[in-house]
Amino acid sequence: MQDCIFCKIASKEIPAEVVYEDDYVMAFEDIHPAAPIHLVLIPKRHIPTFFDIKDEDEAALGRLQQAAARVAAKLGLEEKGFRLVSNCKEDAGQLVFHLHYHLLGGRPFQWPPG
Ligand code: C5P
Repeated sequence: MQDCIFCKIASKEIPAEVVYEDDYVMAFEDIHPAAPIHLVLIPKRHIPTFFDIKDEDEAALGRLQQAAARVAAKLGLEEKGFRLVSNCKEDAGQLVFHLHYHLLGGRPFQWPPG
């Protein structure tokens, strides 16, 4: 999608610190980290929100979970774990309307979130 910042990162039009990439998904460092490890995981195809997921997105979204675990393990989070969250629309504070997960690690987190 033309004006989507995450589509531009996926197509390398805008630089990002990419830590994982395959045909379906990409993981890169969040530019405003909220934890010692803070990655953004995206499907390469433009999906605005969870409400826009189509049957054809199943492979990419499955891959996203798998990529999260692989990247987390590579970054040494296997023992202590990590948090994987997604903000969907206004109440959750979604700022970029290209579906994504935040992978946060390297410190303990509170529950429930604020
Ligand atoms: O609130 P939302 O889940 O939409 O957050 C989008 C995230 O994308 C923010 O944490 C922001 O720092 C990150 N971002 C980024 N690189 C950009 C633009 C946004 O890491 N170029």
